[in-house]
Amino acid sequence: MPLSSRASAMPPFRAMQLLAQARGLEKQGRDIVHMELGEPDFPTPHPIIEAAFRAAEDGYTSYTPAEGLRELREALSQYYLREYQVGVSPERFIITVGSSPALWMILAAVLEPGDGVIMTDPHYACYPNDVNFVGGETTQFSLFAEEGFRTDPQRARKAIKPGTRAILINSPANPTGAIISEDDLRDLAELPIPHIISDEIYHRITYGVKAHTILEYHDEAFVVSGFSKLYAMTGWRLGWIICPPDFVESFRRIHQNLFLCASSFVQKAGVAALSGPQDEVERMVRTYAKRRTVILSALRELGFKIPVEPPGAFYILADARHLDGSSENLSHRLLNEAGVAVTPGVDFGQAAEGFLRFSYAVSVERIKEGMERIKSWLKNQST
Ligand code: PMP
Repeated sequence: MPLSSRASAMPPFRAMQLLAQARGLEKQGRDIVHMELGEPDFPTPHPIIEAAFRAAEDGYTSYTPAEGLRELREALSQYYLREYQVGVSPERFIITVGSSPALWMILAAVLEPGDGVIMTDPHYACYPNDVNFVGGETTQFSLFAEEGFRTDPQRARKAIKPGTRAILINSPANPTGAIISEDDLRDLAELPIPHIISDEIYHRITYGVKAHTILEYHDEAFVVSGFSKLYAMTGWRLGWIICPPDFVESFRRIHQNLFLCASSFVQKAGVAALSGPQDEVERMVRTYAKRRTVILSALRELGFKIPVEPPGAFYILADARHLDGSSENLSHRLLNEAGVAVTPGVDFGQAAEGFLRFSYAVSVERIKEGMERIKSWLKNQST
């Protein structure tokens, strides 16, 4: 049976293919330094795990309301007040199975076939695939390393076309680590586009700069976020949407039909994550910060160009065009010849071709090992 055209057009998650190749080499006995992974290398903090066990034992094993447990939506509402001083009523949250289905659901709910979505290039690899899958079309505008991969509102404005229905922004960003400034968020919020969708999954993983939520500047924005990155909970699958008030009822209906609800005891773990002590989270962010310092100076010493230090997430998108014009080729060479796995920039858009994304969700020891291997590899190239 042939697949639908939209299903067969869905490209693979290339970072996962690289991971599979790396695992294949490991099976043959090779040691690989993993810097391609977009997930925290820490275990979930223990109090969160305990809360999940307790909840399962206390009977949180059935469906919850489609929009999620009231207790979690209230905890999130308080969180937005505490963190950003914005009032978001618990009614506006839909608790989802991670932020990935949250984003897909928003796109499916606001786009008609052929509607346009503006996004940056580079962008998180799934964004255009999600848009295309629901029949939308993307318009991309380039970001530049020399500008710290700034999401320039003027460039976004120029990308607006007659069928443009939404703009999708991401700060701190994957793959660039860039954070959108308050001024730029304000200007983006004022663009004459029906919907603004803000992916805020890397919030609080920042180094000396605070990431602001779009809700500080736009009451009717859609926010997508989740527990995966900050709380090291990628495998738990827990996230949320903040809907503009007029969309709440229809989103509950859609969520109920497509997903029923997010896992019950996992939602209770989410309450524990938000309401419990944050010292583990702070420790993780301090650890990322130390690794960031190490990898930044090592990469620059090796000749990778990084004109502006990325202030958020755990990625560095480094310019490697002097080594190889094809980032896919270069990442394969680095994997096979140096034993270092990194993600090719082209996975994140044409503007990142020739760049490599280094993830520092890996220990300082492994970062140093990876840098040593690249150093010897580079030496061999020049002899
Ligand atoms: N948005 C961005 C920018 C991401 O990097 C990721 C994960 N790599 C996600 C969304 C998805 O996160 P999750 O579904 O685990 O919440």
